[in-house]
Amino acid sequence: MSKTRILTGITTSGTPHLGNYVGAIRPALASAQAADVENFYFLADFHALVKCGDPARVQRSTLEIAATWLACGLDVEKNWFYRQSDIPEIPELTWLLTCVAGKGLLNRAHAYKAAVDRNRAEGEDDDAGVNAGLFMYPVLMAADILIFNANKVPVGRDQIQHIEMARDFGQRFNHLYGEHFVLPEVVIDDNVATLPGLDGRKMSKSYDNTIPLFAPRNELKKLIAGILTDSRAPGERKDTEGSALFQLYQAFASKEETAAFAQAFADGIGWGDAKHKLFERIDAEVAPLREKYEALMAKPAEIEAVLRDGAARLRATHATPTLVRLRSAVGLRDLSTVAVDGDKTEAKKDADALPAFKQYRDADGKFYFKLVQGERVLLQSVGFDSPRDAGQRVAAIKQGEVGDDASDFLLGEGVTSAEVNAALAAFVAAALEGEGGKA
Ligand code: AMP
Repeated sequence: MSKTRILTGITTSGTPHLGNYVGAIRPALASAQAADVENFYFLADFHALVKCGDPARVQRSTLEIAATWLACGLDVEKNWFYRQSDIPEIPELTWLLTCVAGKGLLNRAHAYKAAVDRNRAEGEDDDAGVNAGLFMYPVLMAADILIFNANKVPVGRDQIQHIEMARDFGQRFNHLYGEHFVLPEVVIDDNVATLPGLDGRKMSKSYDNTIPLFAPRNELKKLIAGILTDSRAPGERKDTEGSALFQLYQAFASKEETAAFAQAFADGIGWGDAKHKLFERIDAEVAPLREKYEALMAKPAEIEAVLRDGAARLRATHATPTLVRLRSAVGLRDLSTVAVDGDKTEAKKDADALPAFKQYRDADGKFYFKLVQGERVLLQSVGFDSPRDAGQRVAAIKQGEVGDDASDFLLGEGVTSAEVNAALAAFVAAALEGEGGKA
């Protein structure tokens, strides 16, 4: 049985944060343990360019995210681990998919629509400040997924629409060019939380409210101290519902620890104490990984080598052969395979074509017919004095009345009478089928 392919990517536009860890890295590495899966982990650096015009940041983020995956235990021998921009077949496939993607569908993509809505609210032109990368990135994401025929893509709820788009583009391509793509399924794990950030909104690079996963201990403590809370004093009952502090704790704690924390909220724990407990809980999980991370960050050349090796193997076994097939499917083909006269390929195409009679008047004023199959002339008549004579002869031949001693037509160059008989039989069968259809 073939393995289920699971694909996970992280955009390299910032420092990995607790949300990336809880929402993507930790569950992805946990699922990698299963025997029947093949995992694809990648650094989405082309995606980073949509939002980040700071080259140093993209480079730094790529290193940080790669080091994070490795520090968290990604085994590069057993899983695919690569950088998107090391696989040129991905942007190549993006273009092939762009040409089947409905623009109307892209108009409705959440990220683009949100930008348009913001512009409208501010009385700006719909597309003010919107680059085409933002508009097109669902297509790039579809290429990320479809190029490796990933079966499952674990994502947050906000990404469901993009997986549906990938299915849509894949389906359209398959419809036009044959079955090339597996249609991916979205995987939403209800046990995986969406982490809030310092201000209570979703933790996100875009909101600048993140807690870096590997912030040094002191900085982690300081950041946690800055998490937004209400102004209830120690001794006052606190609500767990809607508390970013509580949600963060829950993402790192066991059920029992979470229940005890909820009880402490009910008992009126002070916010300072609650923050201290959260800090200790997170640090307990992160500290051993942080050490590995720091060691890896000190050896960027080694990480570069790991990524290049992953991409090179993946290209050789998957991406390059896939694009060879896809290029051919859409017609981007080697011109030397184009048939010229007498070419075998063309002959095969001709053999597949239905035979047809063509009647015409030549320069000598006489009326002719020929039986052709594709580009090949099977029979060529002599000249008749009237179109009626030629037509009657054609009608007789169509009835199978060729006549053994027929002298009013010649076989085409290199054509055998067996071929003509087979072509005529096909012709008669097709004509009968047509009549049957009409009746
Ligand atoms: P991004 O950095 O937006 O490319 O996100 C990479 C991965 O991290 C995606 O699978 C996201 O679902 C996940 N992720 C990002 N932010 C959060 C968050 N606040 N809570 C949970 N998961 C998140």
